[in-house]
Order: sequence, then structure tokens, then C-alpha cells
Amino acid sequence: MKMKRVALIAHDGKKDDLVDFVQAHADWFGHRKLMGTGTTGGRIRKLGLSIECLASGPLGGDAQIAARITEGQLDAVIFFRDPMGKHPHEPDVNMLLRQCDVHNVVLATNRASADLLVRAANLDEE
Ligand code: PGA
Repeated sequence: MKMKRVALIAHDGKKDDLVDFVQAHADWFGHRKLMGTGTTGGRIRKLGLSIECLASGPLGGDAQIAARITEGQLDAVIFFRDPMGKHPHEPDVNMLLRQCDVHNVVLATNRASADLLVRAANLDEE
């Protein structure tokens, strides 16, 4: 399964973790078409990677990414959720997760799963 178009999202409590993860796989992410929610995307861009930044999550960024999934424009979503936080945009987050399942889009919601996603994609591309 080719994973060329990848969305990156992290709740505030997980943003440092996502930035660290992307940095650790900078070469892999450098060869993808990336999009992200506003604040997360801004952090990733600072690493020197090219990424399309959508609206911030609470302002509809998760909903925008869900729409891209619906339109068949994404192959994978890496969403580092903070299981300890409360989020005003929980309905949008749930919609995004549901659209991944509706359209069978690869979804990783924590670092261990994201690590497997990158490894699996590498094996597939060898
Ligand atoms: P943010 O949105 O990257 O703009 O912070 C992420 C989220 O909270 O869903």
C-alpha cells in the first residue's frame, strides 16, 4: 500500500512528541505530500519540511482533513491524540476518525503505531 499523501495532527500535549517523531523519520516524510492542522503544520514546517497547513484543529482543521479523506486525497493519517485532555472540537475529531474507517485510510493515533506505519511503508517501497 503506497502512502504518499499523509496528514499530520497532534493535540497540544503531544505536539513535541510528533515533532520528535517526524524529525526521526525526516527522510521518509520529506518524500511525502504532507498536510496538517494549523499549529501542528507550523511546527512541522519549522523542521524544513514542506507541508500544507489547514485551519487550526479547534477552528475546523480536523474537519478539513476529514473532507480530504472523503475526497480520496489522503493515504494515511498520523494523529497523536492526547488521551488525558478535553478538547472542544471532539465532534470533529470523531468525524475524522470515522472517515478514516469509512474510506479504509491508514490511521495511527500514537507513536508506536506511527512507527509501524513508517516501517510498513518502507518495506512496501523496497
Ligand atoms: P492544531 O490542531 O494543530 O491546530 O493545534 C490539532 C488539534 O487540536 O486537533
